[in-house]
Amino acid sequence: MFIDVAKIKIKAGDGGDGAVAFHREKYVAAGGPDGGDGGRGGSVVFQVDENLSTLADFRYKRKYVAQRGENGRGGRRAGKSAPDLVVRVPRGTLVKDAATGRLLADLSGEGPQVIAAGGRGGWGNTHFATPTRQAPRFAKPGAPGQELEVQLELKLLADVGLVGFPNVGKSTLVSVVSEAKPNIADYHFTTLTPVLGVVRMQEGASFVMADIPGLIEGAWQGQGLGHQFLRHVERCRLLVHVVDVSGGEGRDPREDFHIINEELRKFDPELAQRPMLVAGNKCDLASDETVADFQSFVEGQGYRFFPIMAPIRHGVDPLLDAILGQLSQLPPIRRFQPAPPPAAPEKAPRREQLEVSQEGGVYRATAPWLEKELSAIDVEDSESLQYMQRMLVQSGVIDALREAGVQEGDTVDLYGMEFDFVE
Ligand code: GDP
Ligand code: MG
Repeated sequence: MFIDVAKIKIKAGDGGDGAVAFHREKYVAAGGPDGGDGGRGGSVVFQVDENLSTLADFRYKRKYVAQRGENGRGGRRAGKSAPDLVVRVPRGTLVKDAATGRLLADLSGEGPQVIAAGGRGGWGNTHFATPTRQAPRFAKPGAPGQELEVQLELKLLADVGLVGFPNVGKSTLVSVVSEAKPNIADYHFTTLTPVLGVVRMQEGASFVMADIPGLIEGAWQGQGLGHQFLRHVERCRLLVHVVDVSGGEGRDPREDFHIINEELRKFDPELAQRPMLVAGNKCDLASDETVADFQSFVEGQGYRFFPIMAPIRHGVDPLLDAILGQLSQLPPIRRFQPAPPPAAPEKAPRREQLEVSQEGGVYRATAPWLEKELSAIDVEDSESLQYMQRMLVQSGVIDALREAGVQEGDTVDLYGMEFDFVE
């Protein structure tokens, strides 16, 4: 089955914690601080893999977690940074923030793209030594790695997209002009996977043609697949509308032509404006008058028309020449631009997940990051406590307590650390 959308969770690694350590050596009385920094957490990066053509793998594995950085150690030894976690996707995959729909990346180019950044490692206590503070008993915990849910959407990259009713000869056309071997059959519902074929012309010119499954196949099945495949036409620079001119199966080529154009317009009005050539196929089954009649109908609407017999390649070369000529005048395949992140507030205090509660006159503030910050504090050490105070102000904990109604002299409990609130 062809899967072209998926939703997965990704979590970058947290940074390792900075170390609190002091130099120790026999016969050396008071060694200086030598706690190393924590290592960086691994990022989650996305990378194009040419061997993939669908997002099917993501149906089974939905969570991708990168490792955390190593903690710093004594002797100024920094913790090791964790390796990035590489998520491989087919070319043309869009990565969106599932919560907001914001486009984060279009995996159409070469390089890997960082989608969730690993947390920075915390500073070891070496960084906090100053002439007046020679024995800092605190260090920074590592920063948390980014965590988010992303929506993946595959939008194939092709220069030319074939559109048309099922059974008109789209797959046959791709198979005679490229090395691609899509299923060809005399019944509907054959092509349920878009197939890309590279068409090589003389003098090294080439372009990519996509056989897009019949638009109405799914609609007939009542599965709503009809529009699903149109996602893959969106990037095509040029459309070739294949019509069965013989009107086989009691169909009318004019009506077919109109219905498909309407489908395109309903999906995206911009798509209806896309440059389009018309290939009238199965000319062997139609009288010359029928073909000529349909040709003037199509040309009357401003399209160029090419009568062909796909299986024997009849009339196909003039069509390919016209495609190449037209492509040379069109802009390159569309790349989607990631949306800029929403503007951050001026000074962003770390108030996420911060909760303040009050019971029996005791105020409690909790947040996972706060617990981590506090675990690095040595309450016996006055400089460590000063550092904590600054951290509580800067991260917005003090403001949050005030908003909750804390008054001078009230008791505040932070993960078992109790103190009186003083303005
Ligand atoms: P698709 O559904 O549009 O991809 O159509 P296919 O390429 O699978 O072709 C459907 C059927 O039409 C197959 O049996 C083909 O062999 C046949 N066919 C394709 N082109 C022609 C043509 O020019 N003349 C005739 N007589 N049959 C054709
Ligand atoms: Mg087909």
